[in-house]
Amino acid sequence: MSAKVAISRPIEGASGKTGSWRTFRPVIDRETCNECGLCAMYCPDGVIDGDLKIDLDFCKGCGICARECPKNAIKMIREEE
Ligand code: SF4
Ligand code: SF4
Repeated sequence: MSAKVAISRPIEGASGKTGSWRTFRPVIDRETCNECGLCAMYCPDGVIDGDLKIDLDFCKGCGICARECPKNAIKMIREEE
């Protein structure tokens, strides 16, 4: 695929890895996704790679990827579920 991804990569910040405090996590429905790559471009933390794998160690669950997805292929799921 030809998705454009962020150049920078996340590192652990003052709050540590986000996996421990995130409330919602994004889940991509690969059946609906057309691999346009917009989610990776919009993710402010650059945690979606070229294969659309989401690094949940650093995803903060902001939901921007889900909001920007033109196919509505990303659902924000509560961490407890
Ligand atoms: S929820 Fe936010 S931080 Fe996590 S992958 Fe989506 S845009 Fe990036
Ligand atoms: S924005 Fe949506 S359709 Fe595009 S690559 Fe991401 S999940 Fe797939």
